[in-house]
Amino acid sequence: MRLIFLGPPGAGKGTQAEILAEKTGLPRIATGDIFRKALREQTPLGLEAKAYMDKGELVPDDIVTAIVRERILLPDCRHGFILDGFPRTLAQAQSLDALLDEEAMQIDAVIYIDVADEELIARATGRRVCRSCQMPYHITFSPPVKEGVCDACGGTLYQRDDDREETVQNRLNVYKSQTAPLVDYYAKKGILRQIDGSQPIDRVSLDILKVVGIAE
Ligand code: ADP
Ligand code: AMP
Repeated sequence: MRLIFLGPPGAGKGTQAEILAEKTGLPRIATGDIFRKALREQTPLGLEAKAYMDKGELVPDDIVTAIVRERILLPDCRHGFILDGFPRTLAQAQSLDALLDEEAMQIDAVIYIDVADEELIARATGRRVCRSCQMPYHITFSPPVKEGVCDACGGTLYQRDDDREETVQNRLNVYKSQTAPLVDYYAKKGILRQIDGSQPIDRVSLDILKVVGIAE
C-alpha cells in the first residue's frame, strides 16, 4: 500500500501517519523529520533547509524530490510506504508521478486531513516533539504521561522553532498558495480521501483505517 498524507500544518498528518505506520509496518517518510534530523546533525542539507524552515517557507523542489526519490527506492519501501508532508507543490507531485511511473508503482490513496484554521494554529503552537523519535504531542490535546518526556522512547520533548505563532501563520499561507492545489490534483485522479481532522485523534485514526480498508 502506497499512501500520501496531505493537509495543512498542524492537521495531524504526523500523528496519524505514525499510528498507521505502526499498525501496518509500512515505513513513514516524513520530509520535515528528514530535514530536522539533518539539521541536528549539522549536515550541508540540514543547514540549507534551515533557512527556509525558520521562515516557514518550502525547501526548493529539486532538493526535496531528490531526497524522496532516494528514500522510496530503498528496499524497505518495496511493499509500500506512507508519505507525510510530501508532495507539497504541483512540481513535487509531478516528479513523484514520473518516479512512480518509472518504477511501475502507483499511489493507492491520498489521505487529506481537513481542519479549520483556528484549530490549526492552536495545534501547531501547542505541539511538542520528541528530540529522539520525532513523536508529536500536544500540551493540552495529547500530553505525554510525564511532562516533557516522550511516552514512546523516553526522549526529551521540545518546541519546534517554526511552531511560533508568526511562523505558523506564514506556513498556513504557504500551504494555501502552494500545497492546497494538490487537493484538486488528486481528486481529479480519483484517489483523494477526505477525512474530518477536527475529531479526536482516535476517531480520525478510525476513519483513516476504514478508508484504507483495515477497519470496517
Ligand atoms: P502535522 O504533521 O499535520 O503538522 P501533527 O500530527 O504534528 O500535525 O499534529 C499537530 C499537533 O496537533 C500536535 O501537537 C498533535 O499532538 C496535535 N493533534 C494531532 N491530531 C489531533 C487531533 N485530532 N485533535 C487534537 N490535537 C491533535
Ligand atoms: P513539517 O514537519 O512537515 O511541518 O515540515 C517542516 C518544514 O520542512 C516545512 O515548513 C518546510 O520548510 C520543510 N518541508 C517539509 N516537507 C517539505 C516539502 N515536501 N517541500 C518543501 N519543504 C518541505
